[in-house]
Amino acid sequence: MKIIVQKYGGSSVADAEKIKAVAVKISKKLKEKAKLVVVVSAMGKTTDNLIKLAKEVSNKSVPRELDMLLTTGEQVSASLLAMALNDIGIKSKSLNAFQAEIMTTGDYMQARIKNLKAKRIKDLLKENDALIVTGFQGITEDGEITTLGRGGSDTSAVALAVALNAKCEIYSDVAGIYTTDPRLHPAAKKLKYITYDEMLEMSSLGAKVLHSRSVEIAKKFGITIYCGSTFSDEEGSYVMKNNIEQPIVSGLSVMDHQTQVTLSNLPMDNNLVQQIFEKVAREGLNVDMISVISNSGLNISFTIVEEKKSHVAKALTLILKDMKGFNIHYNSGYSKISIVGIGMKSSSGVASKFFKALEKVPLSLVTTSEIKISCLVEEKFKEKTVKALVTAFDL
Ligand code: ADP
Ligand code: ASP
Ligand code: MG
Repeated sequence: MKIIVQKYGGSSVADAEKIKAVAVKISKKLKEKAKLVVVVSAMGKTTDNLIKLAKEVSNKSVPRELDMLLTTGEQVSASLLAMALNDIGIKSKSLNAFQAEIMTTGDYMQARIKNLKAKRIKDLLKENDALIVTGFQGITEDGEITTLGRGGSDTSAVALAVALNAKCEIYSDVAGIYTTDPRLHPAAKKLKYITYDEMLEMSSLGAKVLHSRSVEIAKKFGITIYCGSTFSDEEGSYVMKNNIEQPIVSGLSVMDHQTQVTLSNLPMDNNLVQQIFEKVAREGLNVDMISVISNSGLNISFTIVEEKKSHVAKALTLILKDMKGFNIHYNSGYSKISIVGIGMKSSSGVASKFFKALEKVPLSLVTTSEIKISCLVEEKFKEKTVKALVTAFDL
């Protein structure tokens, strides 16, 4: 039995008309003599609205209750899509994570899929043409409901494709993966192919088109992800092991709302550096770009997301409470802009081209890896930076 897993995101199922249009798209796919397992996200902005509602009721975030609340969104769209399919004569059933047995860890709001045998799905496919599965949801061995983190429906889809040995197609409001976000830069070019490693960097650097965990799973199991548009038949992009086209720089990502934390004039003590980062990590805080410079004193600079500023400040105050004579600054309103490309590994001159393009932009921090260069700039220089890099690297 040939099985195809498709995933439709929130904007693809935003209202009744769109749900009916997705049902028609599914009916056309069924002509390929395949059975379909369709993962859906919550309708439109449902998840954002539920989060807002929770904040109105209480500003204490109780992760377990948030997951109970947020998972309702996907259940609405899954059942509606199954109704729309049955209405046009397609045998279909919706399943939530409990029914589909999508087992996860117990980390509310960021659970990871542990086990997905999909036995029930395989059984039900014998008597149905299409099964609709709620994305983003999981269930623990103790019967607790979890979510996979914002954007997690992509991960549900890829994990199901692995379990069912199926093709994986992810549909959204854009026609594939572009060199940079096409909503912000309409001149961005569509990529036919992008490697797992490039896509992982792009996702974790801010391109929310795919959930990074979905790309990790695809890489691990060698599943090709096809990304295309729900609303057109235009050819999309393939996320896979090799990029036949081998460009040096494939894409550019932007991450806003960054805060730079700068500690200067600390005593020269390597132990202290380790203590600072250990404390921050123990608090579950993600530190990003780091620079450590020691000349007359020790200067440390790193970035965090703006919303964690007070949390980080609390942790640092605790660690540095007995120290005197140092300065600490928190500067918000920064953007991190990165270029990514697998070809950087084997070609020289990328860094010099990068700095040449940004000659006139004040850079606050720069970090690199084998396949990316990132810089931190004040938000007012974001447009200028993106334009300069897009032009220099022909993105
Ligand atoms: P869905 O709700 O279908 O999961 P998302 O909103 O999560 O869709 O992801 C699609 C969005 O990702 C697009 O609307 C686009 O603005 C954004 N995006 C960011 N970077 C890129 C990129 N490099 N290529 C394509 N889309 C991107
Ligand atoms: N509905 C969830 C979210 O908005 C999951 C997803 O869209 O993938 O994050
Ligand atoms: Mg998404």
